Order: sequence, then C-alpha cells, then structure tokens
Amino acid sequence: MYDLVIIGGGPGGLTAGIYAQRSRLKTVLIEKEMVGGQIAVSDVIENYPGFPSISGAGLMEKFEEHARGLGLEITFDTVENITLDGNVKVLKTTEGEMRAKAVIVATGAKPRRLGVPGEKELTGKGVSYCATCDGPFFRGRSVMVVGGGDTAVKEAVYLSKLAAKVYIVHRRDKFRAERMHLERAEAAPNIEFLTSSTLKEIKAASGVVVAAAVEDLKTSRLKDIPVDGVFIFVGINPTTDFVDVDKDESGFIKTGLTLETSIPGIYAVGDCRQTPLLQVATAVGDGAIAAHMVDGYVEAFKER
Ligand code: NAP
Repeated sequence: MYDLVIIGGGPGGLTAGIYAQRSRLKTVLIEKEMVGGQIAVSDVIENYPGFPSISGAGLMEKFEEHARGLGLEITFDTVENITLDGNVKVLKTTEGEMRAKAVIVATGAKPRRLGVPGEKELTGKGVSYCATCDGPFFRGRSVMVVGGGDTAVKEAVYLSKLAAKVYIVHRRDKFRAERMHLERAEAAPNIEFLTSSTLKEIKAASGVVVAAAVEDLKTSRLKDIPVDGVFIFVGINPTTDFVDVDKDESGFIKTGLTLETSIPGIYAVGDCRQTPLLQVATAVGDGAIAAHMVDGYVEAFKER
C-alpha cells in the first residue's frame, strides 16, 4: 500500500511529489497523458518567480527533473474511480488497482467547448484549443480567437506573430484578461477586436474552415468573416468526474484551508479545485500545503 497516490502531473501534482519525497512518504504519481499538464503547451510564462521568461514546456521539464531527481515514481495510467475500504483509498485504474492511505487529486482542467455549429466537426481542421500546438499551421493566414480571458488575449498575441490577421471575438466590451496581456494585444497592428460579438457558426469548404459567422450583439447584425482558423478559449472544465467528493456546480472540487476534500485523506490542488486564481504559482503552493497535510494524516492513519 502507498502512503500517497498523486493523480496528475502538472505543477500542483509535481510539487506535491517533491514535498512527499522529502517527507519520505511512499508515493506514486499517476499521469494520464503527458507530464507537465496544461501549462506545458503555453508558449511563454512570465509570472512564475525566478523565471522572467520561460516556455511552459521548459518550466515543466525542470519540475519533472526535480521530482524524479528526488526519486518520485511516475507512472502512466488513468484513474477510473476511487472507493473506500475503511480508510484505505482504493483506486481503480485502466491497468489495475492501487491502494493508498491518502490521495492528492491534481488533475487540472481541459478547455471548454463553445458548442457552436461546425466546432466539433472542424476540430483539427481549422478549429483548435491550443495556439502553441496549432498556431504554426496558420503562418501568414487569418485566424479568429474567441474569449476575453487571459488565455484568449495571451494566445491572440502569440498568434499575431505568426498569422497575418487575428480577430478577437468577445461577448462583452470589458475583458477579464490581465492588463499587461491586453496592452500587448492593443499594440499589435494585426489584431482587430470584435467586442460585444459572438461566434454563431464556423463554416467550411472542402472540409476545412473558411469563415466564421459573427453576430454583433448591439446591432444584431450577422456577418461572415473569412478566416482559416478558429481558436476557442472560453474557459476550462475541471477533470474531476472520477472522484465522488463535494464539488461546485461547474465540477471544481470544494476544499477547506488544508485542501482536504469532503473525504478525509483525499486532497485537491491546482486548477481542479475551487480557487480564486488559477496559476502555476498557486498550484505550486497548493501542492506544498497538501503534501504537508498528507504527512500528518499518514502518521495518524488507521485502516479502520
Ligand atoms: P476565463 O478566465 O474563465 O475566461 C473565459 C472567457 O471566455 C471569458 O472572457 C468569458 O466571457 C468567455 N466565455 C465563456 N463562455 C463563453 C461563451 N459561451 N461564449 C462566449 N464567450 C464565453 O478562462 P481562461 O482565459 O481560460 O483562464 C482560465 C484561468 O487561467 C483564469 O484563472 C486565468 O486567469 C488563468 N490564466 C492565466 C494566465 C496568465 O498569464 N496569468 C494565462 C492563461 C490563463 P466573460 O468575460 O463575458 O465571462
């Protein structure tokens, strides 16, 4: 039996792994896809202290190297559900079963779908949720970015360095993105803001995106804008279906100050939990707190 199973290898999970190794807890980190999490596809991080400018992949490589250097066991598998046998957490995975005294859920979140006609069918054929992954395909072409948060505005600035033209479509005329991202977008000569507007449909010809139908919410006018790509950044959905603890209406896990969930011995960190700020820096803080709490929990652990 493990002392601790950490589910998810993003900044929160890897930090918890580093602290757990230093506490000499018998720990395994389970990752479904790729160590690094969502942030690993971010082209540049400029607000993680100590690194004025570093790629998301570069920063996460350093986290992974640090954790593995301390001997953290990392395994690739998917957790399907967690049940209790007394106080023991039983994790059913695609590959089998794991038992642990404590669990840290660090599964992060995935981009939310907009749900407009054309979006699903054209994903990978001009519709994308990742600018660093797909931006280079649109070099010298025209793209649309949907959303008004940090991701939309930051990624629009990144895309403006590759594409000839970038439209930002946002449903309000106020942006929730950081002022610094907005100033950069405003300064880019090839970014055009379409505010108080919504994307209604993505249109294709010969199976690839050719236009986006956008409605001006002030005039109700609908017009087709020729674009080769549509990048959708309208928020995130937490990956929390597999764990039956208290959550808010969007599925973010509710935790207390100690980051314990409604089940004793199960903790949640980073983007999958209900928190006012989703950043690498805050996920790192969460990982440290949760691993520290697990140390005390494991010391007092009784199977029944
Ligand atoms: P977000 O902050 O939730 O913003 C989502 C955006 O999409 C909002 O502007 C929202 O509009 C819009 N939206 C949502 N549903 C929509 C719909 N159905 N139709 C049209 N527009 C819709 O999400 P995010 O930008 O992905 O950021 C997620 C978290 O990561 C945030 O906490 C963010 O601060 C953080 N983050 C930080 C950085 C950084 O550099 N510091 C970079 C990326 C992400 P409204 O504004 O009208 O609600």
